Amino acid sequence: MESSPDIIVAQATAPIPSGIGVLRISGRSMEGLVRSLTGKGYPAARQASLRSFYNRLGEVIDHGLILYFPAPHSYTGEDVVELHAHGSPVVLQELQVHCLQWGARLANPGEFTLRAYLNNKIDLNQAEAVADLIHADSSQAARSAALALSGRFSEVIHTLVSDLTTLRVRLESDFDFTDEEIPVFHEVSFRSSLNHILERLTRLVENSRQGALLREGKNIVLIGSPNVGKSSLLNALTEEDHALVTPIPGTTRDLIRGHMVLQGIPIHLVDTAGIRKTEDFVERAGIERTWSAVNKSDLALIVVDVRKGVTEDDRSLIGRLLPHQPKLIVANKIDLLSSEHDVVSELIHSIAGLLPVIPVSAQTGDGLEVLKIKMLSVMDINHNSDAPLLLARERHIATLVQALGHLREALMTFESEFIAEELRQAQLKLAQISGKEFAADDLLGEIFSRFCIGK
Ligand code: GDP
Ligand code: ZN
Repeated sequence: MESSPDIIVAQATAPIPSGIGVLRISGRSMEGLVRSLTGKGYPAARQASLRSFYNRLGEVIDHGLILYFPAPHSYTGEDVVELHAHGSPVVLQELQVHCLQWGARLANPGEFTLRAYLNNKIDLNQAEAVADLIHADSSQAARSAALALSGRFSEVIHTLVSDLTTLRVRLESDFDFTDEEIPVFHEVSFRSSLNHILERLTRLVENSRQGALLREGKNIVLIGSPNVGKSSLLNALTEEDHALVTPIPGTTRDLIRGHMVLQGIPIHLVDTAGIRKTEDFVERAGIERTWSAVNKSDLALIVVDVRKGVTEDDRSLIGRLLPHQPKLIVANKIDLLSSEHDVVSELIHSIAGLLPVIPVSAQTGDGLEVLKIKMLSVMDINHNSDAPLLLARERHIATLVQALGHLREALMTFESEFIAEELRQAQLKLAQISGKEFAADDLLGEIFSRFCIGK
């Protein structure tokens, strides 16, 4: 894969009115373009210079700062020019059109970072971290992504790989091929070194799983009869962090989604209005999709009206849930109870031993804090979320687990050649995580397509 010689351009800031809008241009031999845009050639490297910006008709359309980062000391490793204009989308668009007319082309999503990767400015983990940073759902996820960006994850992997190399050298220098017996390797210190690497890798897997949790978050579905207050509950739960509320109708009319952050973990809520009375099951289009959302979720909240308790419909609904599905009953509308205490305790009693029941009012907010704590504990989320987590993706974790398997195999045998082969396999797996030679083009494509344009 060769880096393309094109000049690419994109807005690096969101296309909305804001204080400052940044147009980023990367490529080679861009002095002509800079002159056309600003009336002068390249400014001093890495210093902000004030200039007028011209449209393609030569009219001044704005004044702003220009920054020039000559190759290779730039984000992409190519020559990079940034124009910091006043944030009007119209101005930025005109400047962009100017660049296109001049011969540049619009950058694909992630293309700046792709070029950085191809020019060896960053490794694959760091490139992915940029994507994660852009899409980070919570501040903790952002922190973890930033940590990976600084190369921490790669560093840990590299240390493991180099320790494995040392072990392999020790092992292979011990091979005695003159011996007719199967070579046997007993050295105690070797095995304890190997064990030590295995322990570190185990911790790394644990850490990565938590990192993945931070990035992926948890999915919670709300199910129950109509009018028990599922939508109200979804709104009440997501309301307190309004910036994160995006109730977008799902792929079917029946799924409504909302988002919130609990203990730094992104939580995705789905209101499954699609599951109605049991008789309707077969008829309803999209019911399968609804059930598949339910079955894939990390937690099902069965919402009931506290005044009616758990009805026959609710029971058959609960009966249809997978046995291992974490679930909670939410008894809503406690504000409507006259002799509140009695009815709630009666309700809890009536389904005692079945499932935990959390009494709430979506309307007044009563009980919601208890519900949140209970949700976390049912999903088995541990609360010490302050530890710096390493960024990981599912494919990282899968690969780490495979490497772990090879190390375990190596520990279970005394045959040198077998140990050597397992260590080699483990090392290959680890190298896959940051090694460029293993990153197939389609994998690269998948990673970089997740970016926003301009990054
Ligand atoms: P869904 O069909 O399960 O999604 O139920 P909705 O959220 O649409 O609510 C049905 C009706 O119940 C609406 O009129 C809500 O205002 C009302 N409602 C929901 N939660 C509460 C609550 O906690 N207290 C009271 N008093 N009314 C509620
Ligand atoms: Zn609803």
